[in-house]
Amino acid sequence: MSEADLLFSETAQYLKPEDIEQLKNAYVFGQGAHSGQFRKSGEPYISHPLAVARILSKLHLDAPTLTAALLHDVVEDTDISKTEISERFGEPVAELVDGVSKLAKIEFQTQEEAQAENFRKMLLAMARDVRVILIKLADRLHNMRTLEAMLPIKQRSIARETLEIYAPIAHRLGLNNIYQELQELGFRYSYPTRYKVLVKATKSARGNRREVVGKILEAIKQKLTEVGLDAEVNGREKHLYSIYTKMVDKQLSFSEVLDIYGFRVVVKDIPSCYVALGMLHSLYRPIPGKFKDYIAIPKANGYQSLHSTLLGPFGIPIEIQIRTAEMHRIAENGVASHWLYKSSDGDFNDLHLKTSQWLQSLLETLSGSTDSLEFLEHLKIDLFPGDVYVFTPQGKILTLPRGSTAVDFAYAVHSDVGNCCVAVKINGENAPLRTKLKSGDRVEIVTAPYAKPNPAWLGYVATGRARSHIRHFLKTIQYDESVKLGERMLNQALLSFNINPDAITAAQWEKLVRDSGVKSKEELLAEMALGKQLPAIVAKRLTSPVESIASEQTAGPIIIMGTEGLTVQFAKCCRPLPGDQIVGLIKKDHGLVIHTYDCANIAQSQRNSENYLDVAWGKDINRVFEASIKVTAANKQGVLARVAAEIAKAESNIDDIAMENEGDYMQMHFILQVNNRHHLAQIMRGLRHLKEIAKISRVKG
Ligand code: MN
Repeated sequence: MSEADLLFSETAQYLKPEDIEQLKNAYVFGQGAHSGQFRKSGEPYISHPLAVARILSKLHLDAPTLTAALLHDVVEDTDISKTEISERFGEPVAELVDGVSKLAKIEFQTQEEAQAENFRKMLLAMARDVRVILIKLADRLHNMRTLEAMLPIKQRSIARETLEIYAPIAHRLGLNNIYQELQELGFRYSYPTRYKVLVKATKSARGNRREVVGKILEAIKQKLTEVGLDAEVNGREKHLYSIYTKMVDKQLSFSEVLDIYGFRVVVKDIPSCYVALGMLHSLYRPIPGKFKDYIAIPKANGYQSLHSTLLGPFGIPIEIQIRTAEMHRIAENGVASHWLYKSSDGDFNDLHLKTSQWLQSLLETLSGSTDSLEFLEHLKIDLFPGDVYVFTPQGKILTLPRGSTAVDFAYAVHSDVGNCCVAVKINGENAPLRTKLKSGDRVEIVTAPYAKPNPAWLGYVATGRARSHIRHFLKTIQYDESVKLGERMLNQALLSFNINPDAITAAQWEKLVRDSGVKSKEELLAEMALGKQLPAIVAKRLTSPVESIASEQTAGPIIIMGTEGLTVQFAKCCRPLPGDQIVGLIKKDHGLVIHTYDCANIAQSQRNSENYLDVAWGKDINRVFEASIKVTAANKQGVLARVAAEIAKAESNIDDIAMENEGDYMQMHFILQVNNRHHLAQIMRGLRHLKEIAKISRVKG
């Protein structure tokens, strides 16, 4: 039977007759379009799309996907248009072909920047319709299978790209068979010499292994039969690439890697998995710390299994995987098992949902990220999850890459939660937001309506999603805030010249904007808030040729509410609190910095400069501020605990603590979260009552 006939007869088992008819039409049409074109191997070109369609038919993909696979190079390599495909085969097929053609145009270049940009486009296409990437992966797989015909230099670059980009995507989608084959072929052509050496070494080792494998296999089967378990048991051959990476990553010798034997047990249902596990643990002693329950907590790509490592006969380590038949299908075919075994079972829908969620979050990352290189970095992290599984307070499991912090968690829950997070409780205990999460942590994010992302978070977040949300937020919000603050600063300056801000005409503004070389009034206002323009000077220029119009209002201070965000900062030297008398200083490129009136860092001369701004606290300020206090206490056991308890009693949190011993006494520096000056006074009063406390003072400057 010809390849084409094989495709039609295989698909006839699950597609409708009219679908087969369309496939035949597409085949004939593609053959005509590609006539006269040949592969590097010398075969007629149509052999390639046909092979791609057959790879996909093995996954039982739908008719539009297979039709598009047959036509996937037509738009790119012949003069057939997308419109013509749409007219002949329908819009969905045309869209798929178009999606694949756009990916095909991507010529991966040596410069990392260009490659990152291309990768971005590829994922964007994939996020729209995952079938596009399935066709692309099948296309790449067939090209890898026929790579022999290419020049060695070309082989190597295609193979590297396969290892770096296509194999991880296949893995992430759970397409295990395609993933393994892409890796093996990628390895073979990237490192031809190492590949040959390993092929030879495994061949000669196989003879010795066979006997051992047979013995263990027999023992496992017998043990499972004892309890009447109907199980399929197989010895697993290690893939060359995984042997190679284990040797490199774990610095093991070939025989050390090969000395691990792998077995897979497939049973009918989940309870049987755990029964089988118990039996195998009684057959051979399990190695502590090696058991993983991916049934209770599936991997991000939907993979489920029980993993354990046992100490077999002669001290041989045995890796076992135990799973149900359904889990096995998902393990082999991932996202495609949705098509492969249509089922009303929740697991499959769940997997499909998870995949689209992943794609969705990638898409969000894409739209927020402007720098391609940076994006590629994030994506690499996202594609190689170190798998940290954590729980929401409701018991929902979230999967995060290793190294993720509480802030990453908050953004994984929802961007609004991330943007408003102020604190976190991990397993019921308060912890810093930068805390790296561990599997099994129960994470509860505390949010506050006034809270905003802190630029410092960018220093430790691990997920692309969190990073791009934070950047996006900072960029847009900071600008809006700057404009608002700039306007308040300008109004104050105008009023101090006895000019009513409302009397400034649009024409006056237009002239000023033109003269200043900025794009808009908003830009000018924002520059003022950032200290690039001085309000007093702008006010003068704005009104200079025009007669000043007296205002009834008088110039009052700029009111600070603490909700201004990044444009208003509170000086770290004196940590001003509501209730303190305050002054504002415009710091170039930083915006307005608030100090206490008596801050030691503000020289008297500065108070008269144009950078100085009259500010005052607003009423009903509803947020916490940081206050710094110094406590001298007798160096006795448990004193810190008593101090901390007293602070907690006054409903304050400790943000930071530093201690020095000085003989009989100790100096403690606290950064506390307080509402205002009154609140701090209350805390300090409480502390003074402790008999160990010798001295206590607030630190300013
Ligand atoms: Mn192709």
